[in-house]
Amino acid sequence: MKSIPDYLPRGHAVSTIHRSEEVKPAIPVGDPVLALDIGGTKLATGMVTADGAVYGLRTGPTRIEEGPDAVIRRLFALGHGSIVSAGLPAPPAAVGISCGGPLDAGEGLLLSPLHLPGWNRIPIGPMAAKAFGAPFALENDATAAALGEFTFGAGRGTQTMLYLTLSTGVGGGAVIGGRLHRGAAGNGGELGHLTVRPGGRKCSCPRRGCLEAYCSGSSIAARAAEQLATGRVSSLSGPTAPTARDVAAAASEGDPLASQLWTETIGLLAEALTSLVNVFEPDLVVLGGGVANAGAMLLDPVRDLVRTQAVPPAATACRIELSARPDLCCVIGAGAIAHELTAAGGGRG
Ligand SMILES: [Zn+2]
Repeated sequence: MKSIPDYLPRGHAVSTIHRSEEVKPAIPVGDPVLALDIGGTKLATGMVTADGAVYGLRTGPTRIEEGPDAVIRRLFALGHGSIVSAGLPAPPAAVGISCGGPLDAGEGLLLSPLHLPGWNRIPIGPMAAKAFGAPFALENDATAAALGEFTFGAGRGTQTMLYLTLSTGVGGGAVIGGRLHRGAAGNGGELGHLTVRPGGRKCSCPRRGCLEAYCSGSSIAARAAEQLATGRVSSLSGPTAPTARDVAAAASEGDPLASQLWTETIGLLAEALTSLVNVFEPDLVVLGGGVANAGAMLLDPVRDLVRTQAVPPAATACRIELSARPDLCCVIGAGAIAHELTAAGGGRG
């Protein structure tokens, strides 16, 4: 059977990366937790150790059209597969679940998440606790990813850290004074719904002009399609609609339309980050998600703009970096909230 490489945090020797189902090695560090991530297109599970290493990674398609019962059954099967392949002799110390909101973290309920239509009041937390014999922690996926980045990634050693994921949507989370900010009802940190252009493009939320309406991958693609529909000549023209990745690539090659779209994207992202930096004066802002894969052509101009625009003390105190672990941010995030639960000596399950 094909071996699945596990993800290790920075500083680990390469020789320890290889794991295979045949070997079934024991997890070497701490009390491992089981991480479950429910994405709109992909399910992912893994065992996360106390130093942030992931073992027994399993992934599969979500297939939301099959409904919650079938999807959750496959999610839990993947989770059991992670436990088996990691060679864990006992139940995990806790089960962390990351999923798009809204949700009720305390009760472990999904409240019709935007990416899972019809999943109304699904008790995913108690179901996971029963299936795996361990207490559960449930969190918004971007908020969990923020804690994962803070605990195991680029945010290690910081005190106030903001995380934005520029993905299908724009999610986020805030760690303030070393603690994850959850808000009064547990769904705080929706950084994607900062207004950057009042009355602007329609957002996935009830409002207009949010950061998400311009800087998510799907919004960048939609803006490109809208411009092409007006007859603009561009290397983006063709039989298939351009993606955000296509826009970034064409902008890097100097295509005028793509460059205009990219410059607008950078400008509006910097508007939002400048406001956030002024409000929170963070040590660090971490950018993740597929759009951040553009790398320096995203990071360099955003850094310059925020440094120019933000109030001087905050502007110089804050670093802006790319995610250290973008490929597994939600699995590591789910692991981080589960470890947070065990560190607190409690369980919600
Ligand atoms: Zn919005």
